Amino acid sequence: MQIDRDHIWHPYAAIPAATPSYPVVGARGVRLQLADGRELIDGMSSWWCALHGYNHPEINAAISDQLQQMSHVMFGGITHPRAAELVQLLVELTPAGLNRVFLADSGSVAVEVAIKMALQYWQSQGREEKCRLMTVRSGYHGDTFGAMSVCDPVTGMHHLFNRVLQQQLFAGAPACAFAQQWDEKYIADVSALLERHHGEVAAFIIEPVVQGAGGMRFYSPAYLSRLRQLCDHYEVLLIADEIATGFGRTGKLFGCEHAAISPDIMCLGKALTGGYMTLAATLCSDKVSDTICSGEAGVFMHGPTFMGNPLACAAALASTRLLLRSPWQANVARIEAHLQAALAPCRKLPQVVDVRVLGAIGVVELSEPVSMAAFQRRLVDKGVWLRPFGRLVYVMPPFIIEQHDLAALTAALLAVLNGD
Ligand SMILES: *Cc1c(COP(=O)(O)O)cnc(C)c1O
Repeated sequence: MQIDRDHIWHPYAAIPAATPSYPVVGARGVRLQLADGRELIDGMSSWWCALHGYNHPEINAAISDQLQQMSHVMFGGITHPRAAELVQLLVELTPAGLNRVFLADSGSVAVEVAIKMALQYWQSQGREEKCRLMTVRSGYHGDTFGAMSVCDPVTGMHHLFNRVLQQQLFAGAPACAFAQQWDEKYIADVSALLERHHGEVAAFIIEPVVQGAGGMRFYSPAYLSRLRQLCDHYEVLLIADEIATGFGRTGKLFGCEHAAISPDIMCLGKALTGGYMTLAATLCSDKVSDTICSGEAGVFMHGPTFMGNPLACAAALASTRLLLRSPWQANVARIEAHLQAALAPCRKLPQVVDVRVLGAIGVVELSEPVSMAAFQRRLVDKGVWLRPFGRLVYVMPPFIIEQHDLAALTAALLAVLNGD
């Protein structure tokens, strides 16, 4: 603990951190084991990732088998079976037309790759002026510079890095709620922005249906369908950032399925390996890849050292096959129904401004920011792990969570919100 305090950076933290980290020594199923012997029910899935819980025998076995073959080999001029099997599966599962796959090493890198693909796509056609990105407010796409430039300009880090960030174009956050009646007015600002700027816009990037870390907002699939049409009309590529929404979290395998659209480019990450290792993927259409490869460079200009890491590919294959074999739709529907019922009473609390649930995601939005450390300590005392941020308290448990654990999770949250 002393070393941690003195030397280690944690996400968005100071050194020494304002609040100490909890030491976790093991994890099994939906439980995290603390060093002092206590166990916590995990309501975060380690940030959207651990769909099958922790320490799953099948994913463990896939990784140890691969470890006996080779843990890593460079991907330049070399390929390997796990990468091929994984890519074939991703091409099959994702929306039609996404046939080309770039294996990246983290979500943020997958977003950088998507942005670079869009830029090279227009460059290859001699249209270098199409080099800006358009997006909506309240988005989150990662912490690297390209990704940061399309995060929400207010809650993101824009003011700190204003001088170096590319200035992108922002429409308002989608204002039509998930189940709300669609009206054309909800996309009017996007339409107007595209009309004015399409000549300089390479791509529109958006998280399908659920905006994650930028505000935990759910919006209408009709918005996505209209956005697809507008992008086609104005010759702008559509990038779907499915890093948080992918692999069933919203009730569909991918968020785009709610609107039955295919983006030109799609980013996957987080739950791709079931939370085991870092791996991400950027998929694109034949048209995007063929155009890039027919351009001046003739190749796509990216290639991380650990691209296509075999251990990570083995984990992703095992996790995705496990997901497809599991009754994940029923699990997500069960979690959704429980969260709807169990979180509803929060609406009556004076500090709560909204409660919303979609798939295996439950959000309680408060009027004031919570003190994360105090809130977390009270939850830990009740045997639960959650990490609220700002005015948002949210749960997104592993799909395999059993009913009694799910009930314990929401009961603890309710008790803490009630001041217990
Ligand atoms: C987490 C996230 C990212 C960034 O992924 P990292 O693996 O943290 O780099 C990008 N986009 C979305 C939608 C995310 O939720």
